[in-house]
Amino acid sequence: MKKAVYPGSFDPMTYGHLDVIKRAAEMFDSLTVAVLNNKTKHPLFSVDERVKILEEACRDLGNVKIDSFSGLLIDYCRSQDVRIVIRGLRAITDFEYELQVAQTNRILSHDGVDTLFLTTSLEYAYLSSSSVKEIASFGGDISQCVPDFVADMICAKYKGEE
Ligand code: ADP
Repeated sequence: MKKAVYPGSFDPMTYGHLDVIKRAAEMFDSLTVAVLNNKTKHPLFSVDERVKILEEACRDLGNVKIDSFSGLLIDYCRSQDVRIVIRGLRAITDFEYELQVAQTNRILSHDGVDTLFLTTSLEYAYLSSSSVKEIASFGGDISQCVPDFVADMICAKYKGEE
């Protein structure tokens, strides 16, 4: 069975992430979207909230499951018996960082984990979780960036309702 892991912060998931998820899900028998529990960042959404958002957005994708992890990605991959990591590439600016991480993971895992890059669909090339949060924090329209239920959750955070 061909398996892959798509790791990230997903704080929150955007249409850009969803596009990568759908395309990767068509290439593999099983895709795990893994939310990184990174204690050094100050996320808008808790890991549980981010997992729930992804579960709702991927409800109709039968071979996609959502999980979370902390620690090294290669250890998580080993625990799941997965050798392929999916990452999205938006622009040259992503490339340098992503290349470094991919090579580090390859070396640390003794060639056990390889990274597959999917280039972003052009309509989502500008999208990032941080820009979505910034727009929302100023009351801007994020309906083209995230599904409606996610937009409502983000707005609620900035209105201090949650
Ligand atoms: P990080 O893991 O660096 O915190 P994110 O959680 O925001 O980043 O994103 C996870 C992965 O999704 C990364 O590989 C990132 O390049 C990719 N990604 C983010 N936004 C988009 C987008 N709009 N189109 C394609 N890929 C994206």
